[in-house]
Amino acid sequence: MIDFLIIGQGLAGSLLAWELIQRGCKVVIVDNGQENASQVAAGLINPVTGMRFVKSADVDTLLPAAKHCYSQLADFFQQAFYIEKPMLRIFRSGSELINAGKRLNTPDYQAYLGDIQPPSNATDNLATPFGFLEQRQTGYLLTRPLLSCLKAFFIAKDSYRQADFDYRDVQLQPSLRWQDISPKQIIFCEGHQATQNPWFSYLPFQPVKGEILTLEHQTQLPDKILNYGNWLIPLNSHRIRIGATFDRENLNTQATEQGKNDLLNALNLISPGLTQTTLIDHLAGIRPCTLDKQPLIGLHPQHNEIAIFNGFGAKGSLQIPKCSQYFADVLLNGTPLPNTYNIQRHYEKLRY
Ligand SMILES: Cc1cc2nc3c(=O)[nH]c(=O)nc-3n(C[C@H](O)[C@H](O)[C@H](O)COP(=O)(O)OP(=O)(O)OC[C@H]3O[C@@H](n4cnc5c(N)ncnc54)[C@H](O)[C@@H]3O)c2cc1C
Repeated sequence: MIDFLIIGQGLAGSLLAWELIQRGCKVVIVDNGQENASQVAAGLINPVTGMRFVKSADVDTLLPAAKHCYSQLADFFQQAFYIEKPMLRIFRSGSELINAGKRLNTPDYQAYLGDIQPPSNATDNLATPFGFLEQRQTGYLLTRPLLSCLKAFFIAKDSYRQADFDYRDVQLQPSLRWQDISPKQIIFCEGHQATQNPWFSYLPFQPVKGEILTLEHQTQLPDKILNYGNWLIPLNSHRIRIGATFDRENLNTQATEQGKNDLLNALNLISPGLTQTTLIDHLAGIRPCTLDKQPLIGLHPQHNEIAIFNGFGAKGSLQIPKCSQYFADVLLNGTPLPNTYNIQRHYEKLRY
């Protein structure tokens, strides 16, 4: 008997399946094998973001759970997936500098922010006319190797099917069924493609396309993540990844000349020395963002045998591990889900 049929092997479906399997459940995960947002993503975890330096909601709970999950996976697969690296936040204006100064006086933020450095302290080939500070507890997840290890693990457990899941093949009555499988519940984790889901498409998704580049260069750079409105991750001393664009209009996965130029121009402002680069890779994906910037998790209000685990937007690496635990508690023990994540907050918009 299959307990859970999970649709989508992105980071959401994979980590939820992993959590449920750890708790002794029998899971089958279905994916069409196409490239997804999780594989394109840079996997950054940055607890304090934006021009106003705001701490991500619940980061004090989410971050320890994420680190614990990725270190458990590293032990299991004998391979590191989460790379902790400090981040230099380069101020782009005097007001950013003032905002950072205010946060530094707030006790809540001190674990995440280092001291403000004046422009004169600039490091290796970086233009920092308004100064910068070092952010702590930042890093990035190597999503591609993690998803490929998990896929091999699911296949070995006979828990993976490559298929295009057609919603019309779901039978709800007299009992839940898809093809030859009669699971207790189906959990949809299709990323931005949930906008096609007949049971959950009315939830307020707001998909956002993003592009990122991988470049090779010969310039000396600090071995730190850089954040200058966009971000730069040093993969090794000659290879960097930069991103990411935000485009709500053109919801496709085509890499564009415009996206590339926007990213290179932004890079040029903080490191004019980095003009001599070779383009190695240019990818685009669609983030499953939501209108209120919170995940969409929960059981369908009328059909409790179908559920959704989605809406992780630009913060999947940080949010998915803890949310997988929360949702496994809901599914197995009936524990209530925190309101901010629960789709109940949107029930009146569901046409059911
Ligand atoms: C350019 C870019 C940069 C990003 N950077 C970061 C970052 O730095 N940090 C961060 O935390 N997040 C980042 N993200 C966001 C991150 O990718 C998402 O939060 C996360 O990957 C969402 O995972 P998911 O599993 O919900 O969706 P997805 O990864 O899209 O997975 C959904 C899966 O479902 C499958 N699927 C859908 N429908 C069907 C169907 N009918 N049948 C079969 N299979 C189906 C898809 O093929 C796919 O494999 C970025 C995203 C992009 C695009």
